[in-house]
Amino acid sequence: MKKIVTRFAPSPTGYMHIGNLRTALYSYLLARHNGGKFILRIEDTDRKRFIPGAEEIILNTLKMTGLNYDEGPDIGGPNGPYRQSERKDIYLKYAQDLLNNGNAYYCFCSKEEDTDSPEGHKCDCSALSPEEVKANLVANKPYVIRQRVSKEGTTTYHDHIFGDISIENSTMQDIVLIKSDGYPTYNFAHIIDDHLMGINTVVRGSEYLTSTAQYVALHKALGWETPEYYHLPLIMGRNADGEVSKLSKRHGAVSFADLVEQGYLPEAIINYIALLGWHPKDDELEFLTLNELVREFDADDIRKSAAIFDYDKLKWMNAHYIAGLSLEEFDIRAKPYIDKVITRDLADYEALLKLLQPRVQILSEIPEKIEFFQAMPDFDLNLLANDKKKTTLDNAREILKNSIEILQGVGAWENELLFNKLNEVASTLNLKPMSVMWVVRLAVSGNLVTVGGATEIMEVLGKEESLDRLIRTLDRLQ
Ligand code: GLU
Repeated sequence: MKKIVTRFAPSPTGYMHIGNLRTALYSYLLARHNGGKFILRIEDTDRKRFIPGAEEIILNTLKMTGLNYDEGPDIGGPNGPYRQSERKDIYLKYAQDLLNNGNAYYCFCSKEEDTDSPEGHKCDCSALSPEEVKANLVANKPYVIRQRVSKEGTTTYHDHIFGDISIENSTMQDIVLIKSDGYPTYNFAHIIDDHLMGINTVVRGSEYLTSTAQYVALHKALGWETPEYYHLPLIMGRNADGEVSKLSKRHGAVSFADLVEQGYLPEAIINYIALLGWHPKDDELEFLTLNELVREFDADDIRKSAAIFDYDKLKWMNAHYIAGLSLEEFDIRAKPYIDKVITRDLADYEALLKLLQPRVQILSEIPEKIEFFQAMPDFDLNLLANDKKKTTLDNAREILKNSIEILQGVGAWENELLFNKLNEVASTLNLKPMSVMWVVRLAVSGNLVTVGGATEIMEVLGKEESLDRLIRTLDRLQ
């Protein structure tokens, strides 16, 4: 069996869309599972749309997700260069071959803006005699080179996901291969590059399903074998009304960077999008590291139907990955979010990490959850009185007084001991422990909902700050 060679060939658009990342992932998995090769190629021939820093985003994303490539613009390789803009001179020769064998022609009537319109380009340039062409070239008339497609019959090719695809040749157009600035179009460049780079397996989005028939014709015209094709189904998002449509910003974050910014871990994102359109043989398997994905990935199990991006499922998966981190690793990932709101020294930072880790689904939830550790918010004292917790403003006052007194004598300030002390307060006052916990938790946090209970919070805050908050609350009550 021949060695599988795949590629990821993004255009540097300035962000990595989830769909693109999935293409990269499947392309990578297909190669790695089969002991093949995975190449990165930057498709930047559209010089008008050059975006500074866009390539870096692509490289960073692949690095962060662990999708290592064997050849690429930053690491080189035997088939370089790997930026199409640096390969400009390579393509002309093949355009010339097509001109010579009649599968392409010079077109002198296209405007500078020589993109292909959906209605197709109509002109008589394909019928120009060699003499007329020569005269135009000598006169330095600007031109583009177009593919000459036969309008009769049908073109059929096989796609591994969508099956046999047949396209009426009459619907094909004489697309531009070389633009008036001398740069090739994507349509042309990718075919030349795939061939020269030895790529025999193309994985890309299903938006190319139709135009691939035309690419197949180009391969034939150049006398080359066509690669194997895997066109991936669309990724959809669910709208407010329950309907689905192509995944876009209104559904949520759609770029890798935005998801990371929101606090999704790269490994969770990769795990989730691997399952967006593919399933392992053992359908029960849900959590798969990149290595496990490599082992399990069978491209025959890629689904043809559109996948629906489910943010809740990703969140749930992310929580699992966060919970599975070592405390040190969690610290590294959580720190930027903690530092957004905490600038003071906490008595027990590690205790805070332990409180947080099992309680966050995405890292961006952290600042809001821990703000009260930085500064005690003003809260409505009436909240201290709570029927369910059997507290009143009067017994709250007693609880605070007794708690302050007993806590002042505590030496080793740690959760378990504090917990026992507050239970003592409860029995002294003949109250339920939950009443004491309610009052103390509110008095040290100012929040109805907190990560951790009263004594866990006090452990993080330390003795001085905890007592200070209890006393201040008591003062307000009196
Ligand atoms: N540059 C194209 C894109 O980003 C790649 C399509 C392909 O993989 O052939 O859509």
